[in-house]
Amino acid sequence: MRLVLLGPPGVGKGTQGKRLSEANGWPLISTGEMLRESVSQGSSLGRVAQALMDQGLLVSDDVMIGLVEERTNEADAKNGFILDGFPRTVPQADALEGILRERGQVLNAVLSLSAPADEVVRRMLSRGRSDDLEATVRKRLKVYDEQTAPLIEYYRRLGRLFEVDGLGTMDEVHAGLCRALAGAASA
Ligand code: AMP
Repeated sequence: MRLVLLGPPGVGKGTQGKRLSEANGWPLISTGEMLRESVSQGSSLGRVAQALMDQGLLVSDDVMIGLVEERTNEADAKNGFILDGFPRTVPQADALEGILRERGQVLNAVLSLSAPADEVVRRMLSRGRSDDLEATVRKRLKVYDEQTAPLIEYYRRLGRLFEVDGLGTMDEVHAGLCRALAGAASA
């Protein structure tokens, strides 16, 4: 299956994505992780990305679309993948539709994890990443509300949205995602 994990920063997409990936054998493609690797390698993309990430801003659509187009074309993603952190804007979602259509593929489901803002802020402040300082966290949530949250409606209209409660224990959220996946598989 080709899946997108959607939701605000700090909701648990990375943790849950890893678990879904291990359970099903589809690679987890995290665009934030890809950017953090570029930063640690000191590449030119890494230098541009770091400045934006530290301010809680998004890297350009063109760059991100190029990264995802390449990564989803690799051999391990042939039978499915889980995207975490992409798409984050309507142009990215449109591009993903186009990329898959050209390959004769479709996005099977968008699993949308939700949790109240106070809870995601608390979770982010406790994990201590360099872009997890309070001012940056607030900025990232604002960017999420403005640029990414519209994707919930976008995918609802396409009939691909499956909503899952992101509150609760890791096991409860995982079970919710598995139920949504079963629903998507039989849709
Ligand atoms: P994440 O690990 O998904 O929270 O991403 C960390 C940071 O990487 C974000 O705050 C953005 O600056 C950048 N980033 C990750 N994915 C994308 C994307 N699809 N589009 C633009 N910027 C992204």
